[in-house]
Amino acid sequence: MKISASLIRAIIIIILLIIVISDFFYIKYMEKKLDNITILTAEADSMIAIKASSFKEPVVVFTADFIDTFYHYSSPFKDGMDFNELIKEYIKNRWSDHYGCGRGTSERKRIHEGIDLFVPENTPVYPLTNFGIVTEVSDNPHYLVQVECERRGGIIDSIKIEYGKTIRILYPEGFTSIYTHLNEVFVELNQTVDRNTVVGLTGLTGNIRNSGKPSHLHLELRDSENRSFDPRNRLRFEQNSAENFIKHIKIDSE
Ligand SMILES: [Zn+2]
Repeated sequence: MKISASLIRAIIIIILLIIVISDFFYIKYMEKKLDNITILTAEADSMIAIKASSFKEPVVVFTADFIDTFYHYSSPFKDGMDFNELIKEYIKNRWSDHYGCGRGTSERKRIHEGIDLFVPENTPVYPLTNFGIVTEVSDNPHYLVQVECERRGGIIDSIKIEYGKTIRILYPEGFTSIYTHLNEVFVELNQTVDRNTVVGLTGLTGNIRNSGKPSHLHLELRDSENRSFDPRNRLRFEQNSAENFIKHIKIDSE
């Protein structure tokens, strides 16, 4: 009995030693793998490349493949058009359908914060990229959205505008698209969507009824601070490739 007890003790010690030694080599192996990862980030507005192992805080890394796949925008009608073609095809009135043209009254001036795309009523609409999250949705045909306006004397104020049935989708690039005047919405808040998801149908809800315009999709793009911007400014550059950029920069290995 005495012999077998010390034998068990010896076996336990050997097992523990094996665990410690294999852990040591496993950690070394993982450290080597981490050294293969270079992260491009910013420090005081400059681009720097650092090793993954030197991060102290949790970090999310987007690969070039991710950017090339999910930062590419195309038609909300899934008709294969890129944005330049889309604008040419579906904008009717060169000035009043575009972003930035005047809206509102002289008391409360505002701009048209999106583009109006004239497609037949009840045309299915899809997300602009292959991944998105629904961050706002309303099935209310009189849904109001707070937007910026300018009062007499240049005072910046806000006003509620009747957008009608509305869907807002957040994309990996950090932008959101807003679709308004919809007849139907088929998605729920926080739902993830891709290019095959029919999120709604174009229609005639909201202030479109007082505008005299026929059914169309009002499409807005907003940045992370909820500021709208001209879709043409972003979407002209949709051919960009992150892979191409990474090929051209020199990353120093420390
Ligand atoms: Zn509009």
